[in-house]
Amino acid sequence: MQKHDLLTDFTTITPSARITTPSHGWRAKCLQRLVRLDLPVPGTVALPAATVRAIASGQMVDCPAILAHFGSDPLISVRPSPENPDWGGPATILNIGFNAARHARLAETHGQAAADALYLRFVQGYAIHVARLDPDMFEGVEPSAQSLRDALRSYQSEMDEAFPEDPARQLADVLRSMARAWEGTTARLLRQAKGAPAEAALGLVVQQMAQGIGQGISGSGVMQFVDPVTGDPLIKGRYLGQSQGRDALSKTEAIYLTRDKRGPSLEDLAPEIFAALTRHGAICRQKLREEMQIEFTIEDGHLSVLDAVKVARSSRAGLKIAVALAKDGVITPEEAVLRVEPRALSELLHPQVDPRGARDVFVRGIAASPGAATGRIAFSSQAAQAFAARGEPCVLVRRETAPEDIRGMHSAVAVLTERGGMTSHAAVIGRGLGLPCIVGASDIRLDTKDKKLVARDGRLFREGDIITVDGTTGEALVGATDMLPPAQDDAFRQLLAWADGFRDIGIRANADTPTDAQTARDFGAQGIGLCRTEHMFFDEDRLVAMREMIFADTPADRAAALTRLLPMQRADFGQLFEIMSGLPVCIRLFDPPLHEFLPHSREGLRELAEALDRPLSEVTRRAEALAEFNPMLGMRGVRLGVVLPEIYDMQARAIFEATVESVRKGAPVVPEIMIPLVSARREVELVKGRIDALAAAVRSKTGVAFDYRLGVMVETPRAALRAGEIAQHAAFLSFGTNDLTQMTYGLSRDDAGRFMNTYVQQGVFPEDPFHILDVDGVGELLLIGAERGRATRADLTLSICGEHGGNPESIAFCRKAGFDYVSCSPYRVPLARLAAAHLAL
Ligand code: PEP
Ligand code: MG
Repeated sequence: MQKHDLLTDFTTITPSARITTPSHGWRAKCLQRLVRLDLPVPGTVALPAATVRAIASGQMVDCPAILAHFGSDPLISVRPSPENPDWGGPATILNIGFNAARHARLAETHGQAAADALYLRFVQGYAIHVARLDPDMFEGVEPSAQSLRDALRSYQSEMDEAFPEDPARQLADVLRSMARAWEGTTARLLRQAKGAPAEAALGLVVQQMAQGIGQGISGSGVMQFVDPVTGDPLIKGRYLGQSQGRDALSKTEAIYLTRDKRGPSLEDLAPEIFAALTRHGAICRQKLREEMQIEFTIEDGHLSVLDAVKVARSSRAGLKIAVALAKDGVITPEEAVLRVEPRALSELLHPQVDPRGARDVFVRGIAASPGAATGRIAFSSQAAQAFAARGEPCVLVRRETAPEDIRGMHSAVAVLTERGGMTSHAAVIGRGLGLPCIVGASDIRLDTKDKKLVARDGRLFREGDIITVDGTTGEALVGATDMLPPAQDDAFRQLLAWADGFRDIGIRANADTPTDAQTARDFGAQGIGLCRTEHMFFDEDRLVAMREMIFADTPADRAAALTRLLPMQRADFGQLFEIMSGLPVCIRLFDPPLHEFLPHSREGLRELAEALDRPLSEVTRRAEALAEFNPMLGMRGVRLGVVLPEIYDMQARAIFEATVESVRKGAPVVPEIMIPLVSARREVELVKGRIDALAAAVRSKTGVAFDYRLGVMVETPRAALRAGEIAQHAAFLSFGTNDLTQMTYGLSRDDAGRFMNTYVQQGVFPEDPFHILDVDGVGELLLIGAERGRATRADLTLSICGEHGGNPESIAFCRKAGFDYVSCSPYRVPLARLAAAHLAL
């Protein structure tokens, strides 16, 4: 190549040089910042991405000109500098410029052993990373004069030429190999998996070597100022005498940095250098506005800072660091909020499997509720309750769960089901209770009769065997694992308090029980957006009364059973009002098909016959008569309210009486009552008529005035289309996107798990629409409903309360559509608060 063909676009890094991240990469930019901060950075030249790309396609940069920047006889390193540090890049090559002459000189000044070791290392690295020779020939060799001779000989015989001596030739080879490695298919796929665009470019950084070997204090190390797992302030790192690069991190003979009981330290060995490093660290934090890890070298007592990278960190450390930087005035609270990824919060709310431990996965399913827990396998709710009674944590393992499993779920520390999707019973309840849960683990074979579970690989598990459910990843593991505890500390609360100050959409929680409501409050929900009242009827005493009500032959018998339920419901609502102390509470009237409350096993039917004092045959017949071909489209929701109005009457009375109580206690509430599964205006009229009358009756009987708001749940496509007329009778509309998704797609929310994977894999659906709101179809219905509703009533309150309510994407959609709030399970409230703040910033 002629001299005039050589590329000359490269820049010496000085405080005023034009170095930009898109062009030269993050490392070059960061090094320039260090230079500007007057840190002792060795001379550095940055090659822009355009130059590197040209090198990959066969051109070459003027290497002698680059080398001239480093004086005569330079020794240099080359490091990758992509635009984003997460995109990786080819390995750093150290000691370019090493050759026989330098080897001889170094042997004189630093001793033969040190000279041999350095030269060998360079030859090995060059042979493997640059000449791409078989690593087996060069790796794992102990440094000695003989191994150096062997390595040089192997190179010569493989390459048919002697090891290159000319530094310019070495540099050209290194640059070419690094530029081409970046363009390789594997590297490309790897970085694209980390979010890099297809055309992501690489810059390169050529730096004067600080050797780290010498007679005076010499060596290298890394230093950082926070713990990478907890984020607590703490000096961490290692130093190794007579070493280079990041050797100190991998060698056992490396020493600690700070003076403490663990052994010798850099602080003891070289107190001034330690103090200088600490100062440099503080400057980096302040000026680079980030916790940095510093790579340093000491040569004969002279300190060089070679590089600084953002400290790798866990989610919890990320949050702590962002808050600490903002509290110290280094960044603004807005920036701290934006630096924490909302989804990372769910890791802080629950125990997590410690990523540093081993994982023996026996099945994968849908990660339906995050967090992890270890317990003994219980194949039935009874078994789960028995384990719990003995104080033994257990995992409820079922084909799928039904409402009657609720007590088993309360007794378990985690749930694993063979069937079901993101909105199946187990998933919804699991998220509500904060229980780690995996559903749709279809690769297990369950035999609940023989009480065994067989994994796909043939491994057999029996009741009582210990497993771990990792609901964050959807993996079930054999045995117990180490756990990281939840981390809702001051930093967590502070970040969310800042987030609340920025967001402009309300966040409520779906909460059915006092425990849920308390969790919702603790997590900062602004009210309850959905209380599914049917969940209140699964406790032992209520279930019996409920079943009596279902089996009642006459309205009078039904009324009698409901009279027993009334005080219980009143107490339920009273408790919720108290816990939420003035925040809005939206209560949904009874929704599910009645037969869900009936036992499904013969044993259960026998128990019910006993409790009702009726013959088993009659109980069985009645249960069968209640069965429907298509229960989710059958007698449920407002249809029950129209056909068997006594149930809603009881619930409305309980709500109003609890409201009167709240007024009497001096903490008045304005309850919100919501009618489920509406598809026609007349349904709302009928129910509203009775509820208004009941309110009037309670007011006149108690002499206490109170207000309430009546609203409609939009869960059928027709309700969305007819929202204009429905809004004539509703103060608010809340979109129940679970049912609305089910009905818009005609896709069973309980069965879709079976084929959802295939559908998503084949690109039929971009995502599971029960998990990520289908903005094109279901979303259009939301927009139509919102627009038509508001056209009737400008002050109509709009919200979403399906499982989508906690997803950042859905929150963005609802915010854009002008919704007032989203409601999600209590454990997703922090994530929703943060995601909403991100949208507003
Ligand atoms: C819904 O359908 O979106 C909803 C919130 O109600 P449920 O999940 O109880 O059917
Ligand atoms: Mg619903």
